Amino acid sequence: MISWRPLKVLPWRWHVRRPRPSLWVSWRPNGVGLVKPNHYGEMLRTIWVNRKNLRYGWKVLTKGACDGCALGVAGLHDWGQDGIHLCSTRLRLLEFNTAGVMKADALADVASLAHLNGAGLRELGRLGYPLRRRRGEPGFSVVSWDDALSVIADSISASTPDRVGVYLTSRGLTNEVYYAAGKAARAMGIASIDSAARVCHAPSTVGLKATIGVAATTCSMEDVIASDLIVLWGSNPGANQPVFTKYLYLAKARGCRVVVVNPYLEPALERYWVPSNLESAVFGTKISDLHVPVRPGGDVALAQAVLKRLISRGAIDDKFIEEHTRGWSELEAQLGELDDEELLRHCGVEAAIVDQFADLYTSVGSAIFVWSMGITQRSDAVDGVRAIVNLALSRGMVGREGAGLMPIRGHSGVQGGAEMGAYATALPGGRELSDENCAELRDLWGFDIPREPARTAPELVGAVLDGEVDVLLMSGGNMLDVLPDPDRVSTALSSVGLRVHLDVVATSQMLVEGEDVLILPVRTRYEQEGGGTETSTERRIIFSPEIPRTVGAAKSEWRLWGEIASRVAPANAQCFSWRDNQHLREEIAQVVPAYTGIERLSTTGDSVQWGGRHLCADGVFPTPDGRASFTTPTARPVDVPEGSFLVSTRRGKQFNSIVHGDRDPLTGTARDAVFMSGVDAQHLGLSAGDAVTLESANGRFDGHVHIADIAEGSLQVVWPEANVLIGSESADRESGIPDYNAIATVRRR
Ligand code: SF4
Repeated sequence: MISWRPLKVLPWRWHVRRPRPSLWVSWRPNGVGLVKPNHYGEMLRTIWVNRKNLRYGWKVLTKGACDGCALGVAGLHDWGQDGIHLCSTRLRLLEFNTAGVMKADALADVASLAHLNGAGLRELGRLGYPLRRRRGEPGFSVVSWDDALSVIADSISASTPDRVGVYLTSRGLTNEVYYAAGKAARAMGIASIDSAARVCHAPSTVGLKATIGVAATTCSMEDVIASDLIVLWGSNPGANQPVFTKYLYLAKARGCRVVVVNPYLEPALERYWVPSNLESAVFGTKISDLHVPVRPGGDVALAQAVLKRLISRGAIDDKFIEEHTRGWSELEAQLGELDDEELLRHCGVEAAIVDQFADLYTSVGSAIFVWSMGITQRSDAVDGVRAIVNLALSRGMVGREGAGLMPIRGHSGVQGGAEMGAYATALPGGRELSDENCAELRDLWGFDIPREPARTAPELVGAVLDGEVDVLLMSGGNMLDVLPDPDRVSTALSSVGLRVHLDVVATSQMLVEGEDVLILPVRTRYEQEGGGTETSTERRIIFSPEIPRTVGAAKSEWRLWGEIASRVAPANAQCFSWRDNQHLREEIAQVVPAYTGIERLSTTGDSVQWGGRHLCADGVFPTPDGRASFTTPTARPVDVPEGSFLVSTRRGKQFNSIVHGDRDPLTGTARDAVFMSGVDAQHLGLSAGDAVTLESANGRFDGHVHIADIAEGSLQVVWPEANVLIGSESADRESGIPDYNAIATVRRR
């Protein structure tokens, strides 16, 4: 039997018309004096930093699709709410788009740049000309495009495709670039092409595909406002998708409840001041209604404990389960054998809090489960996703208003990157690498598709170290920051025969000396001719028009990949003879039918949402029998030796690996903060601000104690700095994602 309070029938616009003092944080106007971001100060800073090219910056903000996270916005408006959509992440990224070209000799003496961090390198300006550095040379010198492309083509041709790797990060890359790179790699016979989607949401892709038949968010942003309950699981949208807090405000104004499942109650999820809403900007908004302080790695056990409670209360949607799913009896049998006390011990959460979570979930008619890196960057990541899917399916929370599964994406290119086929384990459209699918793609593309096993991004690093890679082509990003164990990554980068970096600014990985290193300057998504598209978390393919600007001799990346492939495999050159970007989008629509409509997008605000507002609508799943699958994930508690701690990595004032500030305004902490519970600090005789050293099997991290509302026995340190603690050997078996967690001891310095 299910009981829930009915969905509110009035639209959310009615509810936000009147103030809600019960949601206010403080009477202090805009929370003055409290630890919180100063959004208006950030806007003034943006004007100052971009003052030399303000007009262009304004065009980017008002016409372009945001190159930040994957929430998705064109200009200053999105498709789920009426107001302004803008955040400080986007404002910070504006600098990439307005910066002038760097001096031709700026990288001529690499040793003199050693003191520069990422921000210092960005201040050198935009890459404008192809650059080359061979081992023994002090730095980079300018080469012609023709010479640069010849070096690449000759090196690839002199090697074999299995000894070449391609990695694309999601630095504002458009769907067109991912598609062109994926096609180019395969035209050269290269199977090992991977993208940043691997190190973010590969487990979501695997877990969702295996259970509900489709690897994407099932609902839309509209549903967030329409939902009765939002469960934020291992996710901090206040920091990583800031405008999501506006949706939470609108949802809460309507009466929605928010549960935060995370070792740490992130301040941005406890309360937030939404700058574009008068009430929230002045008084703030309380976000979290219940914090569930799960122990790192305890997510599967927690989900099982909640599910056991739902069963015992008769709060399962029997009709939905019977008509739309399979595997329930196996799951029920598994849960029946699990001891509740043991589950609580594994997840580290008190019974009373798990009861409250179950009570809340039982009391609502609709719920959305949102998760990100806290679930996916673990060695049991796919099981974590499956466990959340089980919870959602048990009450039919898929395919209808206000209900859904949402692996929220941190970058505007992650969803599209995988769907365009820039992925080692899938073809365009997310299709599996089967003989049948490869044959179909061969017929469309006109050349054979490599079938040998491809290497994922972390595997590529291992292969380089094992001497199995001659050429590594990388578009954007910084493997040195993104992957665990930076020393190992640096050794790999220096040992590959030819390394090619396609990017808009200089990064530390480019400066690692190698046999032969090429830097190719590329245009931003706004500068590339014909514009481009991105795919947001809600599966919305958003058009971003060309906003013309010339930076040195930088090229459009979608053309560049075609040029490289055409030089290596001239017989396939006609496969890359797109007249323009529009022609390319027409091909995407043909190869990836779900993207039909992309070819009609032409101006700011144009978008098409593949799959419509709800995937799996009315409980019909895109699986062979139309049913979703319950699975039986296994809780694997992490064995922590006495006196050691579970260390998780977190994000601060940054956008992925791009660090935007030395202090995180959301927590008031510096980048060396070690987040620790008061109880643990007391046991260790430590106080806030004490200098400590964390030591794992992989390395050491020096920091200062920050007392926080975090699960006992666990610590958090900021990523990518904390990568020194992370080993390269631990990864999720099924998805290949590295485990960005460590076990470490703490001692006073
Ligand atoms: S929330 Fe994300 S999509 Fe929206 S403006 Fe900020 S970075 Fe861009």
